[in-house]
Amino acid sequence: MTPLRIERLALIGLGLIGGSLSLALKSAGVVGEVVGYSRQLPTRLRAQELGLIDRAVDSVAAAVHGADVVFVATPVQAMAGVFADLAPELSPTALMTDGGSVKGAVVAAAKSALSAAQWAQFVPGHPIAGTEHSGPDAAFATLYHNQRVILTPLPENSPALVARAETMWHTAGAVVERMTVQHHDHVLAATSHLPHLAAFGMVNALARLEERYEVFRYAAGGFRDFTRIASSDPVMWRDICLANRGELLPMLDHYLAELTQLRAWIDAGDAPAIEQQFAEAKAVRDALYRPPAAR
Ligand code: NAP
Repeated sequence: MTPLRIERLALIGLGLIGGSLSLALKSAGVVGEVVGYSRQLPTRLRAQELGLIDRAVDSVAAAVHGADVVFVATPVQAMAGVFADLAPELSPTALMTDGGSVKGAVVAAAKSALSAAQWAQFVPGHPIAGTEHSGPDAAFATLYHNQRVILTPLPENSPALVARAETMWHTAGAVVERMTVQHHDHVLAATSHLPHLAAFGMVNALARLEERYEVFRYAAGGFRDFTRIASSDPVMWRDICLANRGELLPMLDHYLAELTQLRAWIDAGDAPAIEQQFAEAKAVRDALYRPPAAR
């Protein structure tokens, strides 16, 4: 693996995902300067104060000017505007990549904003790491340690550029995998987007009950575990649901069918069917999360 050196990293979006990448690369000592832009001045100042960036600038273009790596980590629906703003300043040798949770919509936005040559410089990516916290204060240097990052390279990307993106993530501590854009969006709709919908829906269902105060007073660890991700950023998740609606809606229907079936068995008092359903789910989950020694 060629050692990584980034002279100037442009960070667009200074929250959990962008800030953590910057901290990881800085702590690995591979980056000269990090120049950052986000929409709001207080966010930029806070990012600088926390050391996520060395220099805050007041436009996407100013951040990208002279950068050899550009990382876009805004909510996905904001990326079209970011790509349009960065195009005039993108160095012809720079690597451009992103951390968006949906790839199809982001790739389409990049294609319409960039020239053909710039399009070949874009290596789309998605770190499968995160927390329910957001903003500059949520960032930490070890977020990506031993976590997966999915790259969805484009046919137009050069192998050297994809290798550079891979090396960057390895340097941040991640394990890199590759898949197609379409496959990414299908798999992530199931493993990430649907569980977030379930958590948001569960919290709201209980919050709308008349007896909600009592219900929440008796909510125990199970409710807390199940709904942790409902504390995630609403704008980010609004964008993900809309940007991946083509994959998410069939997945949601699939889940609703499971619940509808369960409802019917409970209504009918069908104990064997209910038990069988729960036993199957328990076996799957136990196998997924068995302690390493027992595998
Ligand atoms: P975050 O902590 O909320 O940070 C988002 C950043 O984007 C903020 O600095 C915000 O700045 C900035 N921003 C918002 N709109 C902008 C715009 N129009 N132009 C420029 N900057 C803008 O979010 P995050 O968790 O880092 O997520 C960033 C991306 O990573 C998203 O695309 C998300 O889908 C993806 N992702 C998230 C997770 C996760 O678990 N959180 C995991 C994997 C991937 P202001 O405060 O100035 O508006």
